[in-house]
Amino acid sequence: MRSSSALLRGPVYSALLAVASSSFVPAASATEEVNIYSFREPGLTKPLLDRFTKETGIKTNVVFAPNGLIERLVAEGKNSPADLLLTNDSGLLVRAVEAGVTQPVHSETLKKEIPATWRDDKDQWFGLTRRARVVYASKDRVKQDAFTYEELADPKWKGKICIRSGQHTYNVALVASMIAHHGEEETEKWLQGLKSNLARKPAGGDREAVRDVQAGLCDIAVGNTYYMRAMLKNPDQKAWADAVRIVFPNAGDRGTHVNVSGIAMTANAPNRENALKLMEFLAAPEAQQIYAEANGEYPVGDDIPASELVQSWGPLKADTLSLAQIASLRKKASEIIDRVQFDQGATN
Ligand code: FE
Repeated sequence: MRSSSALLRGPVYSALLAVASSSFVPAASATEEVNIYSFREPGLTKPLLDRFTKETGIKTNVVFAPNGLIERLVAEGKNSPADLLLTNDSGLLVRAVEAGVTQPVHSETLKKEIPATWRDDKDQWFGLTRRARVVYASKDRVKQDAFTYEELADPKWKGKICIRSGQHTYNVALVASMIAHHGEEETEKWLQGLKSNLARKPAGGDREAVRDVQAGLCDIAVGNTYYMRAMLKNPDQKAWADAVRIVFPNAGDRGTHVNVSGIAMTANAPNRENALKLMEFLAAPEAQQIYAEANGEYPVGDDIPASELVQSWGPLKADTLSLAQIASLRKKASEIIDRVQFDQGATN
């Protein structure tokens, strides 16, 4: 990973800062407000934030950017107007903690609503929605209806698997979970096996992997569950979704690898109390349900039902390995992915 100071000097960061700054208008008056830096698209969060404002009178200001927000927090330091960082992945939350731009939030409400598996063990970040990393199997060419991550390395799948870059945060977390369950040595062998089964070099996103299943290039794609909803809603991608079915790996044993989108309070939050109110608002069961439904994800609370569409994919048995433990193995996972030169694709 590049150091944040290296990122700060980059032209990409400067451009992002310019874009993000122009969209952020801090309120000059003493109105009650909370400022959010968000990696999530505004459309996904707006309904909930509007409701929060209606209930509490606290205004929300959102800066949305798909990249660069952690670097921006580092650069702004104590002068940052941001109170909260909203992410679409736990890897970003972990990076924010490592960059020193978060603070712990000790809240009984958050602890009650968000199971320990889906939040940081030091209260630095909290999951708000869950997504599973699953197999998208060709309806035509794949008959089996049970899978394990382990068998993705089985030579019977040679030339049949499509996946995005190994170093993408979703795959790093999956490999980290394999290290937790099998140790480093076994995981490296497994990843080597998976690499030799790839139909093409790892590239694109999860949806492009499903697209390539529909095109006949591969029989199996690995992807996050919510992309099924995204593809179904997009007329250009609906055929990709229709060509596959979701299979939850390891449903018969430890459960499927699950990650979260989440939230953290910034180290220098100027509106700390309002920020805490918003965190607790988002963690409440009803808000979890609305937020998960908007994204095609699963709520983090055990008893909160997912949307009908999400439920139609079948029951999710989630691996209960904590994300804090996965986070601690990310670096090792990333090293293994590099070592096997995963992104070169099958070479034998
Ligand atoms: Fe995603």
